[in-house]
Amino acid sequence: MLFDIDGTLLLKGADAHAAAVVAALREVWEVEPPQSARGIEAAGRTDQAIARDILALAGVEAEQFELRRDDFLQAATSHYERLMPDDLSDRLAPHASDLLARLAGHERYRCSLVTGNIQQVARLKLGAAGILYPFAEGQGGFGSDSDDRNDLPGIARVRAGQLWNGGEAWPAERTVVIGDTPRDIACARADGAHVVAVATGPFAADELAEADVVLADLRELEAALESLS
Ligand SMILES: [Mg+2]
Repeated sequence: MLFDIDGTLLLKGADAHAAAVVAALREVWEVEPPQSARGIEAAGRTDQAIARDILALAGVEAEQFELRRDDFLQAATSHYERLMPDDLSDRLAPHASDLLARLAGHERYRCSLVTGNIQQVARLKLGAAGILYPFAEGQGGFGSDSDDRNDLPGIARVRAGQLWNGGEAWPAERTVVIGDTPRDIACARADGAHVVAVATGPFAADELAEADVVLADLRELEAALESLS
């Protein structure tokens, strides 16, 4: 299972995260996001893609981003560490905590992540919400691995295979992406994985109809997983 974070496991937990990205742009490229950056779409996109769009609006050339990408990733992580709330447990999506407690010890399932968040930011967030324990370090596909979310399920399957499948990439047909946006659905389709959408983020159920299953929230997820197999 490849869980998305924002809008799926955690709701409205992205304020400090957005502030950290802006602080990192300021630190690394000495730019202020122009007013027009408010129109940049964030839901379901990677941190790198969002940062690149803001820089383009601020007049920074794309190759400048490539040159200092690692500095940006590091700066955004340390700003997030400074700005994040100590406790994000009040942002947990309905039923997320109980669901993960059941899945973490389940012999049939393996929990991993596909998120546009930078890897360390994702782990800090989940830790502050008390739900980091099902997610092994080094597993998942993150916004720090690629700008393009469509690349992330495949990256996560390769890593899962190293831990749980004798070094062979975990098969796409035994993989389910769980997310809250059409981009989560698209990345699963691009990888040949299954996808369950939850309408707990900015999109209503009818906007997520391309998923294999659409749920109001995570309560019925296990039943949905059974229906896919
Ligand atoms: Mg999301």
